[in-house]
Amino acid sequence: MLALNEGMHYIRCSRYEYLVKRGSISNYSFSIKDEEKTGILDAMFEIINYPIELKDLEEQLASLSVAPNSDQMKSLIHQLLEIEVLYEISKKTKQDTSLCVIVDDHDQSQIVTSTLKNEQYYVTYYSIDNKSSSSLPYIDLENEKDTKEVLKNFDYILLFKRNFSPNTFHKFNKLCLDLNSKLIISYLDGNEGIIIPLVNCDQVGCYNDFEIMRESSFYNLLDYQVMKEQLLLDENGEIYVNPIHFTILVNQTCLLLEQFISYTNMNYFAYSFDFERMVNTKSRLLKFPKCPSCQGDKNLVHAFI
Ligand SMILES: [Zn+2]
Repeated sequence: MLALNEGMHYIRCSRYEYLVKRGSISNYSFSIKDEEKTGILDAMFEIINYPIELKDLEEQLASLSVAPNSDQMKSLIHQLLEIEVLYEISKKTKQDTSLCVIVDDHDQSQIVTSTLKNEQYYVTYYSIDNKSSSSLPYIDLENEKDTKEVLKNFDYILLFKRNFSPNTFHKFNKLCLDLNSKLIISYLDGNEGIIIPLVNCDQVGCYNDFEIMRESSFYNLLDYQVMKEQLLLDENGEIYVNPIHFTILVNQTCLLLEQFISYTNMNYFAYSFDFERMVNTKSRLLKFPKCPSCQGDKNLVHAFI
């Protein structure tokens, strides 16, 4: 089924020319011309009712007296799909999507549950903190077999952490690679929110590749290593988390998830929200050829060896 993107303005300049624009400064700004003056744009933007099957769309366009020949019509539909004016409605809807949400048992769990409450996903929550008094079911990461039994039934596994937790991330990375499951890691690292969507690991690698790439960009590596050693000893230590930062992180994660479910399940970037400097950046996820976590050779212990 094809639908017309309702988030855009379709401005009629003439019967044979439309300006498509998402917003004042948006990159999505196209002038579409019907060079042959067939009236096909007029039909597509003003006459056809969406959503519509591709076959029906072609038939309806062909039935118009001024319709162009079949090749022109197919090429135009293809172009409109490429620039996201038309899009394929995913067969999978929110109601069909099952989410496994792992969340710390602190105030953050309330933020996650209240954000996801309004969405229509099929959500199951778990905790990995055995010291918590949470009513959430507990997953024991040390028990790999049972954990895999739990995780294997979900379309997406969302891991929210209030702190940089390399141990937990590596454990989930391994479990999800073994199960071939889609994993989205979202965490706060001080005043920075980070989202790592690992939904196509065969193309972009795994969490281990991301961690190597991120560490390679640090100029204060020694300080970082000292902090990381400390966190490896106690990942669940108490730390103040700004609820606004965490709320933004959860909302951004939901936005990305919606994109993956509605449009594409490909992702090539990790996202960073620096709340100190108010800068948002995205980094290309890179797959290292010798990553010991997601590549074949398990005898290697480091990607650069
Ligand atoms: Zn890897």
